[in-house]
Amino acid sequence: MASIAGPEIERLIQLLARMPGLGPRSARRAALSLVKKREQLLGPLADAMRVVHDTIVTCEECGSIDTVTPCNLCRDTRRDRSVLVVVEDVADLWALERAHVVNGRYHVLGGVLSALDGVGPGELNLKALIERVAAGGIGEVILALNATVDGQTTAHYITELLAPYGPVVSRLAHGVPVGGELDYLDEGTLSAAFRQRTPL
Ligand code: ZN
Repeated sequence: MASIAGPEIERLIQLLARMPGLGPRSARRAALSLVKKREQLLGPLADAMRVVHDTIVTCEECGSIDTVTPCNLCRDTRRDRSVLVVVEDVADLWALERAHVVNGRYHVLGGVLSALDGVGPGELNLKALIERVAAGGIGEVILALNATVDGQTTAHYITELLAPYGPVVSRLAHGVPVGGELDYLDEGTLSAAFRQRTPL
């Protein structure tokens, strides 16, 4: 297909199309919107991207990303230092922060164990996790991992890894989503919800 716009704009579209959730069509629409709003959107976006590009670092404590290390969450003295929430990815950390459910600190694994994808313990941020727990002061480790086979395999692995250090290791409940209807649930979810029922 012949390109409609000049090579510079085409390059912008191609780069935008690599964003998760944006196909070529949406990328074209986003690029047009950016170009039309040159002063209000394109310029500030370009500036913000440059600043983030130049300052982004991985937190030496938790493995999250921020513009400082230790990150702002690790530095926050109002957080309960006895609770550590283990997540697969920074996106999961952000989701939990949006939900305002965590008052502890985090540990980002950077993936989960996967035989299929060849991800072993050495590929994950596990050594730092053991060091943090071994240093003492952590009473509970909450494994906030995905309810997938790999996520649960990783949860079991970490539970055994941390057992010698004595923290309470818990994981998220599986079950009926808020607003969910039983009739629409798959058998796995329904059976997990049934097994993990709680007294009222
Ligand atoms: Zn951190």
